Amino acid sequence: MLEWFAHNARDLPWRRTLDPYAIWISEIMLQQTQVKTVIPYWQRWMRELPNVAVLAAAPEQRVLKLWEGLGYYTRVRNLQKAAQHIVATHAGQFPRDFDAVLALPGVGRYTAGAISSIAFNAPAPILDGNVIRVLTRLLAIAESPGEKATNELLWRLATRLVEAAAAHSSPITNHSSLLLSGSCSALNQSLMELGATVCTPQNAQCLLCPVRAHCAARREGRVDELPNLGPRAAATSREFHAFAVEHSGKFLVAQRPGGVVNAGLWEFPNLEVTGTHGAPAASLEQLLQFAARCEPLCVVKHSITRYRITQRAFHIRLTRPPDDLGSQFRWLALPGLHALPFSSAHKRILARLAETSR
Ligand code: SF4
Repeated sequence: MLEWFAHNARDLPWRRTLDPYAIWISEIMLQQTQVKTVIPYWQRWMRELPNVAVLAAAPEQRVLKLWEGLGYYTRVRNLQKAAQHIVATHAGQFPRDFDAVLALPGVGRYTAGAISSIAFNAPAPILDGNVIRVLTRLLAIAESPGEKATNELLWRLATRLVEAAAAHSSPITNHSSLLLSGSCSALNQSLMELGATVCTPQNAQCLLCPVRAHCAARREGRVDELPNLGPRAAATSREFHAFAVEHSGKFLVAQRPGGVVNAGLWEFPNLEVTGTHGAPAASLEQLLQFAARCEPLCVVKHSITRYRITQRAFHIRLTRPPDDLGSQFRWLALPGLHALPFSSAHKRILARLAETSR
């Protein structure tokens, strides 16, 4: 696995550094997000917020703007909280101690293991979806990895593997652009890389696999059955109507309050038209009284966890603006809107609005 990784690792920008801050940012961005999406976000982030101290001191709206489009905004809030914690508790130096890394907001056992092993070559195990797939197939583990006992077994296996790697003393032949802190880093990354590029959920390329001779699932013809993920949660459809409300060349937007999904981000007034989630945007009925024209703008579809969300957006032109809209609302022209952080769906509505307003 170590040799295979050294020769087959993808050349990713965060693999050209051993800076724990840079590795931490990449690991958090990569949660629930594909590598090709993350690359430009990570590069821009590292240019604008190159270290813990700059992140800790950055205005929240700037940090949210850099994350805009990646979704799951709790991740970015925790990044800034953790940076502030590092400044307050570790004098701005990213901690080397595993337990101190694990204590950071938003950092779980997997992320702490990834940062500690990749940046510091600590023999800390990692277990994510890719590693689970490789291990359950290699050992033909038929029980669901979601079950506590199986999950603990997988963590023990991952621990034994990385500890074995720690004892590996031969130098690893290196890929020209790959920076490796040592064999623990290489082993952990090799497991993730094998799961991402060879031992894939569908059409695993077993003929290219460096451990095919040891793989029980391959031997038993059970590759496609494993891991046993059990029945999937049924998807739930939700539909929203969003309104790009215009008056005198300015559009009405509102900032989401604290304590809700996408808190602090901006959006067009909207309401859910299916189910019982959420409440109609304040003052929407009042706005519609003054609508001179209302025309369809676009339909945006996206998924968040098990929700399949459809946003139907409409462009409304008002003859006069209503009074007393509430302090969370602002009237802004397009350049002002582009400077604000929007949730992903509303960013797409804004892009469509900009196209139609040209
Ligand atoms: S042989 Fe196939 S199933 Fe087994 S670990 Fe390799 S890629 Fe995965």
